[in-house]
Amino acid sequence: MKTHSRVVVIGGGVVGVSTLYHLALKGWTDAVLLERAELTAGSTWHAAGLLPLFNMSYTVGQLHKYSVDLYKRLPAETGQDVSFHVTGNLRLATCAERMDEYQKYCGTANTIGVPFQIIGPRKVKELWPLVELGDGAATANIVGALYHPDDGHIAPADLTMALRKGARSRGAEIHEQTEVTAVKRTPSGEWQLTTTRGDIVAEHVVCATGNYARQTGRLFGLNVPSIPVEHQYIVYDESDELKAYRKAGGRELAVLRESDQSYYLREERLGWILGPYEAGAPARFADGVPDWFGKNLFEGDLDRLLPHVEAAQRRVPSLSSCGIKDIVNGPIAYTPDGSPLIGPAWGVRNLWLNEGHSFGITAAGGSGWQLAEWITEGEPGIDMMAVDPRRYGSYTSKRYVVQKNEETYRNVFVIHYPDEERPDARPAKTSPIYDKLKRMGAVFGQRYGWERANWFAPVGVAPKDRWSFRRTNYFPHVGREALRIRQQVGVIDLTPFTKHEVTGAGAEAWLDSLVANKVPTKIGRMSLCHALTRRGGIRSEFTITKIGDQHFYVVSAGAAERYDSDYLLKTQPADGSVVLRNITMSRGCFVVAGPRSREVLAKLVDGPLDNTAFPWLTAQVREVGLATDVYLLRVNFVGALGWELHFPIEYAHHLFDALFEAGAEFDIGMAGMRAMESLRIEKSYRMWGSDLTPDYSPFEAGLDRFVRMNKGAFTGKSALEAQLAKGVPHRFVTFEVHDVTDADPLGNEPLFDAKGNIIGRATAGYYGHALEKSLGLGYIRPEHAAVGSQIQIEILGERRHATVLVDSPYDPENKDLRA
Ligand SMILES: Cc1cc2nc3c(=O)[nH]c(=O)nc-3n(C[C@H](O)[C@H](O)[C@H](O)COP(=O)(O)OP(=O)(O)OC[C@H]3O[C@@H](n4cnc5c(N)ncnc54)[C@H](O)[C@@H]3O)c2cc1C
Repeated sequence: MKTHSRVVVIGGGVVGVSTLYHLALKGWTDAVLLERAELTAGSTWHAAGLLPLFNMSYTVGQLHKYSVDLYKRLPAETGQDVSFHVTGNLRLATCAERMDEYQKYCGTANTIGVPFQIIGPRKVKELWPLVELGDGAATANIVGALYHPDDGHIAPADLTMALRKGARSRGAEIHEQTEVTAVKRTPSGEWQLTTTRGDIVAEHVVCATGNYARQTGRLFGLNVPSIPVEHQYIVYDESDELKAYRKAGGRELAVLRESDQSYYLREERLGWILGPYEAGAPARFADGVPDWFGKNLFEGDLDRLLPHVEAAQRRVPSLSSCGIKDIVNGPIAYTPDGSPLIGPAWGVRNLWLNEGHSFGITAAGGSGWQLAEWITEGEPGIDMMAVDPRRYGSYTSKRYVVQKNEETYRNVFVIHYPDEERPDARPAKTSPIYDKLKRMGAVFGQRYGWERANWFAPVGVAPKDRWSFRRTNYFPHVGREALRIRQQVGVIDLTPFTKHEVTGAGAEAWLDSLVANKVPTKIGRMSLCHALTRRGGIRSEFTITKIGDQHFYVVSAGAAERYDSDYLLKTQPADGSVVLRNITMSRGCFVVAGPRSREVLAKLVDGPLDNTAFPWLTAQVREVGLATDVYLLRVNFVGALGWELHFPIEYAHHLFDALFEAGAEFDIGMAGMRAMESLRIEKSYRMWGSDLTPDYSPFEAGLDRFVRMNKGAFTGKSALEAQLAKGVPHRFVTFEVHDVTDADPLGNEPLFDAKGNIIGRATAGYYGHALEKSLGLGYIRPEHAAVGSQIQIEILGERRHATVLVDSPYDPENKDLRA
């Protein structure tokens, strides 16, 4: 084994080998993979090999699509067969809500170019003659299905061997029986890995250790939020009916998924493999994989499997006459949201994760592809936020991860509603006023571990969501909250905002080099600033306020805490001229907004609040009630007269009570996240993470006024110059959808021109309660972006006419804000 390599990949499962292959493909052939046992010895050897293209995530969908395409090419490239059976994949639906879910997915599939068909029961029977369509009693009737003709199943070990061949033929090395046991940094900043076969020094390290992710993370001082869960499948003997069907010339049946009964069924050597996602599957190895567990399995738990077996036997009666050959019960890596961890580790340089894969056979190709791009080019080619390891924060305690992973596992097949908020491991992280909000009827959701009030149930209304793809029980209450802000005054608790304090002689120049806008130079001024990727996409959005001399207050999205903090930390000058402090937990934030907000605040602060003394887009440090050192920012995300109060956290209760006392005469009330969504969309305010992503530049996003091409260098500037020279490929638009009765756009719907050609995609949508319009935001080709353009959108399978509106259709001149 060599003693130095540009990059070392730890872990020889399909994910590690794919990463090595893609690094070699990118020209990084000075690459070594270390495997403690033999290749595929982790979870890869016993995987069922299914390759579902179906995934509700725009990012994961693209990764899966890449994998499926790659696996079809690999045999020709490497000479290694991978046993890819392109059988197709049939997902059954037995209720209308499940069809809504499939239709919502089809929007995403359309925008990323995954072929699919929505089919009826007759076609299901044609494709899958052995299936029962249902009796409306014990076996629910099939109402339709989603069919992917292009995916199927593969032999995971053969796939790994093909990737190994591809990597090795380009010069990468693989060493088996080589376990990484310790890690340290060399004085030059490289990684020195101690292994059971000697030391190796590497510039970059990739961890792809599957079930070992937590203990590998610990070697590097990281708490990696991945813990495996038990997952089983049953292997059946040959089926007479299946044999007869095949003998009569029937083609291999598509992989069948009865989502409403939480199982999949596929052919295996004229018998079956049945894989359920059961309730009660336990997390394993939370404290690390024990030494005795090598290429082992757990004992099968038939009791847990039984309800799914019975359901499958009702749907496919011939299954009843098949004997069980084997039960495979192995550990499957999970993360709290079920998506993998692909990208840079936080807080340390040149360490990369490709961990937490629960669909790792399917995702290996795509994850290797994007991670290799990230490592070799400094950033990925697509928006990877949905899988970025930094989407989690320090809140992922062991118990949190165990509870969430078990919950996510048993929910794999549930209907994934867009407003779904799962209950386990909650409440964990709360704002100080959580109990007060709860008493006011708050219905909470969880984001980045934080409990956030989504809406408030008035007295007499049950504080509970009825999740749906359509307008549902909370619709009128959200509307009332939104209108209160448009007409009176409301409060929103935005304590989870990410907050950094940047001080020092070099603070201004450094911040200015990170963002496309000009950082404020006068005390009390603020700027909306975007940090870009090198390709010119939007990576972060910061509101930067100059609080004092050499003192900046930097606010960004709550869910971006670790992501932004890591970026700031890694770009911070090494010369000591800048001090960076993450003060997220030491300051709370209330938004007080609406036409009466000035009168409310005036009761609590000394000094004037009028437009001359306190103009829009300025900030002051004042006392508010009994609270000192409150940063008052005259800005908000709802497009109303108002202030954000950023206060020392110990004043949360006092300020909350004081605001409600002062606002009583104006009928002050709380508003939740869903009202904020409605309000911000009426103002065309772009949301980081959905409307603003690395896939689009600030010019595409229509943020030209926040880009100063005439200032000095900043990350992404040359890419913007190139884009301006070539022409901006998309434009951000706000549009009204006509004739909507109950299903507003939500994001990820395809947009079409009059001839039915796809011209873009929606990134968000909601009902605008003040405008009384169904609204969407999205990106389309520039020739369709003019105000008044007629476009179409597909919502849950139905085409609707839409009209492009002026940016900020509510109060386009910002009169409310400047009032
Ligand atoms: C029963 C079952 C069925 C499944 N079916 C499917 C399916 O149909 N489709 C699908 O997409 N996914 C399926 N999966 C999931 C799939 O198996 C995993 O997602 C995938 O194998 C993960 O691959 P990996 O490379 O990340 O991890 P692994 O295959 O577990 O590989 C990690 C490797 O790292 C090595 N390692 C760990 N620590 C060290 C160290 N310190 N030094 C050196 N080496 C180390 C381990 O020995 C191991 O070989 C299934 C899983 C199970 C349990």
